[in-house]
Amino acid sequence: MSIDFSTRAVHAGREDLADLGVHVPPIDLSTTYPAVDSSAEAERMDQFASGKQPEGSPIYQRLHNPTVVRCEKAVAELEHAEAAVAFASGMAATSACLLASAMGGKRHILAVRPVYGGTDLLLNTGLLGTEVTWVQPDEIAGALRPDTGLVVIETPANPTLGEVSIADVAKEAGDVPVMVDNTLATPVLQNPLDHGASVVVHSATKALGGYGDIVAGVVACGEEFAQKLRSVRIATGGILHPMAAYMLHRGLATLPIRVERMASTAADLAQRLSGDPRVAAVHYPGLNADRPEQMASGGTLVSFVPVGDHDEVVKKVELITPAVSLGSVDSLIQHPASLTHHVVSEDDRHAGGIDDKLLRLSVGLESADDLWADLDRALG
Ligand SMILES: *Cc1c(COP(=O)(O)O)cnc(C)c1O
Repeated sequence: MSIDFSTRAVHAGREDLADLGVHVPPIDLSTTYPAVDSSAEAERMDQFASGKQPEGSPIYQRLHNPTVVRCEKAVAELEHAEAAVAFASGMAATSACLLASAMGGKRHILAVRPVYGGTDLLLNTGLLGTEVTWVQPDEIAGALRPDTGLVVIETPANPTLGEVSIADVAKEAGDVPVMVDNTLATPVLQNPLDHGASVVVHSATKALGGYGDIVAGVVACGEEFAQKLRSVRIATGGILHPMAAYMLHRGLATLPIRVERMASTAADLAQRLSGDPRVAAVHYPGLNADRPEQMASGGTLVSFVPVGDHDEVVKKVELITPAVSLGSVDSLIQHPASLTHHVVSEDDRHAGGIDDKLLRLSVGLESADDLWADLDRALG
């Protein structure tokens, strides 16, 4: 029997609760756990260090935490993955993927712009000992090297909302794993593993958490890569706090209804903006005729270039909050060239199609009419 996504969102990662005699996931805040039999624990230490999850005492919170494991199981199920590994933030998750990939000596990465500003910075500076080559999607096969360990894409991309065909990229990449940042689409609208990707990264700070009150990251992937990620996490310490894991898990239950409602409002606003003479350009996947068949709707963000002063629009909104981040229950607007993509050089921003005046709107759960009234006033 195939179980609907909305049903999974409510029940995933809660399989052990009935046996525990509870109805909501317990929050285990222990930093350490009794470890009585030292020689047996030594064996289990080795297993944790190699990324396995042995039964019994978690030993120490950086090695294992039951509250975190439950939310990992839930995300894995929603992303059609064997496993998921949670981190302290989206950037900690991406960092762990780069380190896990480099563990086998493959330090070269191919990446397609644009990507989130922090990801661009991390790749471009080679801070973690990796080397990046920026390519167009159809240049991937030609740019592969023997030491290429990962192909990195983001679709829809932050902040232009441009889409890249995951299946085409996977074909170009051949045996090299493709990592997709799926933060903007969420597993409600897109499951990259179904299209040939090997690794899915989420900033769970965004729609997965959903309420703007946690910072978290999750990687969904096969068990083999997950073991490398757990090893990296133990060594580097970017663990998710169990309280945030609980809140992330709780947010997943409402993920489908939130994302569907936000996406339908976003489609409505994109339509109104695209017919408005005060707007020079609107970026919304749902408005593009020629799209890859991989995202179920146009998504929850709309980016646009106002004809007038973009700063004035941000200053004049009253209902929408001028702030970075996205995917929350309330709408947010920001100017990528000043904020999320400020760390990317002007030339690189332009190469990625990021207009100097582009504004990115993350649509929340307010009514479309109220949001439009706010934008209409702000556009002057
Ligand atoms: C926010 C974001 C990130 C970084 O996530 P943090 O949780 O802020 O570390 C990565 N990718 C995308 C697409 C994002 O929007």
